[in-house]
Amino acid sequence: MPNSMRYCQTCRFELSKRGFKRHTLSVVHRKGKLIRAMLERDCITHAEIARRIGLTRERVRQLAQVMGFATGRSRHAICRMERRRKEMAEFFVQAQKRGFAVELLGKKSAYINGKLCIQRQACWHDVGRSEYKYTCLSIRRPSVKFDICAWKLPDGRFLILPKQLTGFTQTTFNPEESDRLGTNSSSHYYRDYVERWSLLGRPRRSK
Ligand SMILES: [Zn+2]
Repeated sequence: MPNSMRYCQTCRFELSKRGFKRHTLSVVHRKGKLIRAMLERDCITHAEIARRIGLTRERVRQLAQVMGFATGRSRHAICRMERRRKEMAEFFVQAQKRGFAVELLGKKSAYINGKLCIQRQACWHDVGRSEYKYTCLSIRRPSVKFDICAWKLPDGRFLILPKQLTGFTQTTFNPEESDRLGTNSSSHYYRDYVERWSLLGRPRRSK
């Protein structure tokens, strides 16, 4: 650091020795921590930061640059990505963790390996006889187009079925080890399809 420069610990950037005194009295310095905290949030715009602390947007942009933050545009891209990731249905988050490339179409639908996948929720179904009351789950056939549907089970696992196996409007199945596979009118082997990720094909990278 040249002798004529001083480094401000609060704002984490250097300025000329001459400008330092004036800097310590400035809004930027006094609100340095606040500005930094705001800049660290990708989903706030420079304009909004400017409005909150009474600086111009251009000044915030300059500060962000000096403080080493990404430009407004890339912050916005990060923000959009983050927001989509947060909104993404759990099935797609899990798929990504398993190495699948997920092309989101909406919160609950995405292409994975060229297959149209959707997520739905399975609910406990009261079968009527108390000893089985807690072992049957109810699923409904989605009314939208899909190739694969993943129903989220209450324990966090997924029942993953290809469209060919969804010839029902609503049905029940038993996710637990038991002789009873479902209700009398609808017994099937869906338990074999719990966590059947192989239906999605091969992940892009193996884990
Ligand atoms: Zn400072």
